[in-house]
This record gives sequence, structure tokens and C-alpha cells, in this order.
Amino acid sequence: MTGGRGEGPIKRVVIVGGGTAGWMTAAALARLTAAGVAVTLIESDEIGTVGVGEATIPTLHDFNRLLGIDEDDFVRATQATFKLGIEFVGWGRPDDRYIHPFGRLGRDAVGIKFHNIWLRQTRTAASAREAGRIGDYSIAVQAALRGRFTRPAGDPASVLASLGYAFHFDAGLYAHYLRGLAERSGVTRIEGRIEKVDLEPENGFVTGVVLADGRRIEGELFIDCSGFRSLILGNALDVKFESWQHWLPCDRAIAAPCANPEPPVPYTRATADAAGWRWRIPLQHRMGNGYVYSSAHLEDDAAEARLRATLEGQLAADPRRLRFTAGRRETLWVKNCVAIGLSAGFLEPLESTSIHLIQSGIARLLALFPDRSFAQHEIDEYNRTLRLEYEQVRDFVILHYHATQRDDTPLWRNCRTMSVPDSLAEKLELWRGNARVFRRQDDLFTEDSWVAVLLGQNEMPRGQDPLADALPSDESRDFLAHLRDVIARTAAAMPTQAEFIARHCQAPPLAA
Ligand SMILES: Cc1cc2nc3c(=O)[nH]c(=O)nc-3n(C[C@H](O)[C@H](O)[C@H](O)COP(=O)(O)OP(=O)(O)OC[C@H]3O[C@@H](n4cnc5c(N)ncnc54)[C@H](O)[C@@H]3O)c2cc1C
Repeated sequence: MTGGRGEGPIKRVVIVGGGTAGWMTAAALARLTAAGVAVTLIESDEIGTVGVGEATIPTLHDFNRLLGIDEDDFVRATQATFKLGIEFVGWGRPDDRYIHPFGRLGRDAVGIKFHNIWLRQTRTAASAREAGRIGDYSIAVQAALRGRFTRPAGDPASVLASLGYAFHFDAGLYAHYLRGLAERSGVTRIEGRIEKVDLEPENGFVTGVVLADGRRIEGELFIDCSGFRSLILGNALDVKFESWQHWLPCDRAIAAPCANPEPPVPYTRATADAAGWRWRIPLQHRMGNGYVYSSAHLEDDAAEARLRATLEGQLAADPRRLRFTAGRRETLWVKNCVAIGLSAGFLEPLESTSIHLIQSGIARLLALFPDRSFAQHEIDEYNRTLRLEYEQVRDFVILHYHATQRDDTPLWRNCRTMSVPDSLAEKLELWRGNARVFRRQDDLFTEDSWVAVLLGQNEMPRGQDPLADALPSDESRDFLAHLRDVIARTAAAMPTQAEFIARHCQAPPLAA
């Protein structure tokens, strides 16, 4: 029996790569083993994994649910902390800071979007002072600023129901955790380096991969999770990479963990810097740090020196240098190969979206799981939705660079004045008029996310929804004051993140 295209159901799935993408895919596809499908994962210890990827977004809850993961167990196993949003420092102007929170901003009233009510109250200096910042109306922002955390309430009437959260975790421990789940469910792991990909001469379908020791692993469906190498989709099937570097010029990163200088805060920090930005991701046992920068604007050694100089605790491991190009493969599923993870594309981790894109690829693959005929219209559907999803995330990331008033370095001047994709230009035009924001088709980021970043980076619209103008001014003022007060009091009453973790999900110390 050979692999590749044929008739009937798929009986052998081969996952190439054991990084976050490979083990997430293996854990999710493990359920197929009960139906008699053999799921094999091949990884190379010699090559290793990219080993970064520590911040997530709330969609990870869906993945955990799919796998039946107990959240406290997962937090303990991965040294995780809770993430209520991302604090952006210096993105609008060098001295600005704001939080892009998870969950909802304020509360809509009489069919009017909340941000319009707030905007209307900020039109005069006096009422603007009273209305405060948009973040005053987010329970996630207020809890984050106080270092507090609790899980959202089920009661929709409570402001706690508007809280959203995700996790920071150790990427290596996460892959290990998923590996345990996958192997216990029947996934077979093979260690070895793939040297050759065999294609069917007549139709170009993948039939097997050959390891350095001569073993040949056959399959009918291949999931390429080989990271930036893109071993099957990019190399063997020659699918071109579409670069977005002209919009997202950062192409290097240096990652360097350090000791936690203080109890971890429940949010990521992304600080704009001369040639890019620096991340700070607090975990239970250490702090993840990194500098994402443009090699056209900064030398690697200077970037490392800058990162070292800004660490808040003692360096915990040698800094790691990484190279990448923003963009994605033109097609992500070709014949009987689906690329998931870095082999499919890369967007810098500014909004922590890579793990989500992995998860989304897996969910759509499960929804369109093929038989050996590999119906082209189903493959087209997969490619159409994934392509759109990458582009929507790309636009949101570009927004952060473009909506800036910075002109202190060439990178920021370029980003401020560059032309942006039409899809983003249309969104900006709608916003700049009457503060309109619309979430189109499966858009990952909610209207509130767009509002938080646009306002956070001082993109003030000329007007607002005329329906908000029709609201009696004193009513809107009282509505805002009440909401602000309830949110502040609720946040203050939460346990600190440290208390919450100690009570529910403290990770054991790691062996040295
Ligand atoms: C600087 C940086 C920061 C990031 N931060 C975040 C973040 O905060 N949040 C987030 O969601 N994402 C983040 N990401 C993205 C995240 O790290 C990746 O999406 C995630 O780790 C998935 O990687 P992967 O599994 O696709 O690739 P890798 O981790 O590179 O895994 C590739 C696998 O393929 C195997 N392999 C390759 N070639 C062969 C071969 N010839 N034979 C056998 N096996 C082979 C390797 O051994 C490895 O097991 C970040 C990425 C970078 C670069």
C-alpha cells in the first residue's frame, strides 16, 4: 500500500514537526485514532523547535475545551499566569501607554455602541475630564492595573461577565503537556530527521517522507508543522511565500528570559523602541522578554545590548536570536498537505496571534476533514478562510505601527507615512469619520479591540454616531459615572493574581 491520493477514508495521518503547532495538531487529531486512523508525529531533537510563543488570546479556551483540558492543571503544568490584555507603551507618542484589554469595553445603551457615548462626552474639556479614559470602562484594564484577577462571572448582569482572559505560558512546557495528552490518546511519536519527501510522479501528491536512517513513513494526509523550514509545503511542493515586509519591516527577534523582579502582573507589555518593540511576558517561574526589530534599522549586537539593558531581573538563559519575514504561503493546503504553524506563515507576536492561527487551522481542518479523493472545492474553502484570517490579523498588527504620532526614528516615520492595505485603509476611513467599526466575516478582533487600539494610539475620529448626540447629556454623564464606579469597585474587590494562583493553580518549582 502506498500513500497519497486514492479512494476511501484516510487511514494514516503524518504530522511533520513537534513544536507547538505539531503537538497542538497531534493532540486535536488524536481523537481520530479511536476511529482506526493512525496518527504519527515526526520530530527531530537535533533540529529542535523555535521555542518561543508565550502569550495567547482568549480563543485558547476553545482549544482547551476541545481537548477536555482542566484549566488549573494546565496552568500548573505550564508555569502559566493569566493575561487580561496587552499594555502598549510608547506606540502613539513616546510617553503614551494604554491597555488593549480582553472582554468588553463599557456597555452599549439603547442600541448605541458604547464608544460613541464615551466619545460624545469627551468633546469638551470639562466633560472629557469627567469621562476619563476609555480604559476606565473595562474591567480587564482596571483589574490589570491593580494586579488582580478572577475568572469571569456567568451572570450576564454582572460587570464580571464582561471580563475576558487568556494565558502566558512556557512554550516548551506547553508542547510537553500536549505531547503527553496526544501520546496517551494513541498518537505515535517518531524521532528522526526527515531528509526527503516523496511525491507521486503523476499527480504530485505526497506519498511518504524518508528519515536520515532510511526509514520511510507513508501516509495519505500530511500536516506540515516543520516551522520556518516549511519542509513539505514550501520546499517539496514549492508553494511561494507572500512577503508582507513592506508593511511589517521587523524581521529579527532576540528572546531572553530573566528572573521575575516582583510577583507577575496579569498582562503582557509591548514597549515601542527605536527600531521595533520589546515584549515582557510574566510567567510564574520567570519573565519572558524579547526585542522584535528591523534589521534594516538596527544591528543584531546593538539590539541585544538594548534588550539586556532593559531587563528588569537577572538574565536566566542565553539570549536567542531569531530571523523571520512577515507573510504567509500563497496557499496553505495543497493536494494532501496542510501547513499549520510557522510553515504556513508568520506575523510578529505583537497581538499574540500565532497560536490562535494554529488553532484555527486545526479547527478548520477538522471541519473539512478530507477523504482520499481530496475534493478540491473543500480545499479551496479551507484556503479562502485561512487566507482571509491571516490578512485580518495582518491589518490589525499594521494598525499599531501606522496609527502613530512618532517621528523620532526612520522606522516610525516610515510606518506612519506608508500606504496600508486597502482593507485597512477602508476601516480607518470609516473610523475617522463617525467612529464606525464593523467586524467583518469571522474577523478575529472584536469591535472593542479596534476601538481600544485606535483610541489608545490617539486616532480620534472627527465625529461620532449621530444617535449618540441625540442622548440627553446628563443621562450619558450619569450612565458613564455609574459604570466607571461599578467597574472600579469590582476590580478592587478581586483577589490579586498571586492570591488567585496560590489558591487554585500554583505551579511546582521547576527542577534546576
Ligand atoms: C520571536 C517570536 C515570538 C513569538 N511569540 C509568540 C507569542 O507570544 N504568542 C504566539 O501565539 N506565538 C508566538 N510566536 C509564534 C510561535 O512561536 C509559533 O507559532 C509556534 O511556536 C509554532 O511553531 P511551529 O511549531 O510551527 O515551529 P517550530 O517550533 O519551529 O517546530 C518545528 C518542528 O519541526 C521539526 N522539523 C523541522 N525540520 C525537520 C526535519 N527535517 N525533520 C524532522 N523534523 C523537522 C522540528 O524539529 C520541530 O519539532 C512567536 C514567534 C517568534 C519567532
